Amino acid sequence: MSRIRSRDTLPERVVLNQLERFGYRVEQQHKGLPGTPDITLPRQNLAVFVHGCFWHRHLNCKNCTTPATNRSFWLEKFAKNQLRDRENGRMLKKLGWKVLTIWECETEDPDRLRHVLVKKLACLGATIRRPS
Ligand SMILES: [Zn+2]
Repeated sequence: MSRIRSRDTLPERVVLNQLERFGYRVEQQHKGLPGTPDITLPRQNLAVFVHGCFWHRHLNCKNCTTPATNRSFWLEKFAKNQLRDRENGRMLKKLGWKVLTIWECETEDPDRLRHVLVKKLACLGATIRRPS
């Protein structure tokens, strides 16, 4: 059970469902793109990452903790993740994609997620065809 979930985690599914409800055509895991975005909106040239707050360092978030032991190991690991995220974002933009990051904590409450998506999509100039 947990094995299946690891590739198709709940937060990703929640975001995917909401984007579909907005009327977008969505695709999952575009392997040909830098960083393998969790979701893409091909018609909008929009790549969506659903990031775990711990691994990808969602600053000022309660889930963005640092383990007390092996501190330098963790800090190095986190720094590498952040660098990779930035690099992937840069490469995607070079290829003409817009990048939308949704944090895992933003997917916990459906109302909050809707609100966050509407705001972030508007910032990227993507229009919602079917507001719900
Ligand atoms: Zn968070």
